[in-house]
Amino acid sequence: MDYAATLLAKLPGASKRDHGLRHLIETLESYLPAAQVEAVMQAYEFGAAAHDGQKRQSGEAYISHPVAVAQELADMHLDAQAISAAILHDVVEDTAASLTDIEDKFGSDIAILVDGVSKLDQIQFRSRAEAQAESFRKMMLAMIEDIRVILVKLADRLHNMQTLAAMPAKKKARIARETLDIYAPIANRLGINRFKVMLEDLGFRYLYPMRYRVLDKALRRSKGSQRQMVKKISEELDQALAGEGIAADVIGREKHLYSIYKKMLEKKRLLSDVVDVYGFRIIVDDVNDCYKVLGLVHGLYKPMPGRFKDYVAIPRINGYQSLHTTLFGPKGQPLEVQIRTREMDRVAESGVASHWQYKAEEKSDATPQRRARDWLSNLAELQRSGTSEEFLESVKVDLFPDKIYVFTPKGDILPMPKGSTTVDFAYAVHTDIGNRCVAAKIDRGLVPLRTLLQNGQTVEIITTRGSRPNPHWLTFVRTAKARNAIRTHMKSMRSSESVDLGKRLLDRSLKDLASSLRKVGKVRMKAALDELGLNNIEELFEQIGLGERLAPLTARFLLGSDEEGASESGKASLVIAGTEGMVVSYARCCHPIPGDDVMGYLSSGRGIVIHRNKCGNLSNFRKQPEKWLSVSWEDEIDREFSSQIQVDTQNKPGVLAEVAAMIADSGSNIEQVSVLGRHEDCSVLSFLLQVKDRQHLAKIMRNVRNMPNVIRVSRDCA
Ligand code: MN
Repeated sequence: MDYAATLLAKLPGASKRDHGLRHLIETLESYLPAAQVEAVMQAYEFGAAAHDGQKRQSGEAYISHPVAVAQELADMHLDAQAISAAILHDVVEDTAASLTDIEDKFGSDIAILVDGVSKLDQIQFRSRAEAQAESFRKMMLAMIEDIRVILVKLADRLHNMQTLAAMPAKKKARIARETLDIYAPIANRLGINRFKVMLEDLGFRYLYPMRYRVLDKALRRSKGSQRQMVKKISEELDQALAGEGIAADVIGREKHLYSIYKKMLEKKRLLSDVVDVYGFRIIVDDVNDCYKVLGLVHGLYKPMPGRFKDYVAIPRINGYQSLHTTLFGPKGQPLEVQIRTREMDRVAESGVASHWQYKAEEKSDATPQRRARDWLSNLAELQRSGTSEEFLESVKVDLFPDKIYVFTPKGDILPMPKGSTTVDFAYAVHTDIGNRCVAAKIDRGLVPLRTLLQNGQTVEIITTRGSRPNPHWLTFVRTAKARNAIRTHMKSMRSSESVDLGKRLLDRSLKDLASSLRKVGKVRMKAALDELGLNNIEELFEQIGLGERLAPLTARFLLGSDEEGASESGKASLVIAGTEGMVVSYARCCHPIPGDDVMGYLSSGRGIVIHRNKCGNLSNFRKQPEKWLSVSWEDEIDREFSSQIQVDTQNKPGVLAEVAAMIADSGSNIEQVSVLGRHEDCSVLSFLLQVKDRQHLAKIMRNVRNMPNVIRVSRDCA
């Protein structure tokens, strides 16, 4: 076509140094309509310009690599988007062009594919334990939203393996190992046999160069001596097929080196036993012919008992279909024969990729997920015959995962449910780590603890001795393990804190009645505990501290002076130091701070909640006076409290930032900012602050009030 021809003419040295472009165009033209070939060529022009001047390790122009990757996928007849993404797959990583450039020029589908490949490149396989490799494969599959991403990645890896010779020795071994541990098994899992076979042989070659050479040599030698025999058998098969009027292709099968090596290793077989086997594949037009051909070859040569397998009726779990049989050849040597249809052959070679092969009649409105599901349901369909569904289940889980996979700092991979946070991660590592965690890093950068984890991230937890879980974490943790651990810890903490508080409350009430625990005495106490059904005095303190039992009533009960009314309660007030822990809390409606006039409300199960006397909720006081007690502040309190102020400002740009800066300058942290209202010329802002006491708050409010754009400052009180 014209466009491609113009493009080729522009290349230096025309046909020789076309970086594989001519072959790619020919392949594409054989199955794609002209408009789509042109679209791919535009991707080529863009990629070639972006990579201009870059060289591969081998010295070749860089663009030859993406073109080779595209060729690999074109050989499988993949759609134009996948081919374009293959050509552009290294552009974002290695050139000045950005993902936005690609999206603007080629649309979001292709941009998503390119981005997916770049993301896979960024995660690094670090350890090589078996289980770790398995997790890593799952992590890679979990990261992709479109299976075509992994197809591009596999083709990319394949070409890198084909050109590995140019790499330094150390790198060769590492990349080869990774190929055997990660990429070949993924290809196998997705049923893409052609990738699996090539990746395994290349991985084997560079990881075990000596073994590879010996095996390769032996295989070549035997192939030489087998040539006559292969020819003879082929002719006999052809003749027999023609005699029956069956159209079929007979192919002498090449041996896959790595599978031979594995067979020798696993079955402890001699090289000669494994190598001296003849392999044939017979491809026919339809399923009936498969069985006809089977009968035919069984008539021609004697079948070896127990070696016949019908993967047509009962396919392998990755969708592979074929008839397998082993025969005694003309001289008694084993003859392995595979019989299948063209369609079965295509699926056997491309697996999941066969669902992205370009078909002219097909409308491509199916989403990537739909197509992957189609492939899986195809497999499920084939599996109805009742073979194990385990593989299918595991592929399904890999392709539509409900898990994400993250790294520990040591490089171990931890699976976590989707939606997990750094706190979930901390608890997944160890309960102690969770209980003591104070901060987290993702990919070496500090993040808030509530940050959601993403696939492939490295997560590090920072702990300090003596720190403890924050009840607030319960609002964002995702895993049951974290939630239970936090609750358990809180329960035990609350119990010891409420024992302390309960004792103080009871002491105070006894004092009001001119008594004390000592005056009550052990004998009376024991009798009282028995009567209340409690085991020991700590349980009594705890119930009082949690507000489940009222201190003044308990005091009178202990003293046996029931007749007096409740009006006497609250003579001496309880002193609050701010260090009581979870059994004393500060109401969120009125945000009391030291210096405010306050009251305490005994809330069953929660201990004492402090309110400002001004708070509207104090109207409850009249309804249940026995639940309210008078409290006062300790003189020296060394902690900060939340307080809320409302600021009315002029509607000027930057005014929010100015006010926030002033608050920070006044020595306060801002917990939360919200815009309550915005009118034509004024805005109403609300700040939740950390302050020491009333004086501190007054200073902040004064500073803010004096700002030029501020109209009014007030303290919120509901
Ligand atoms: Mn690449």
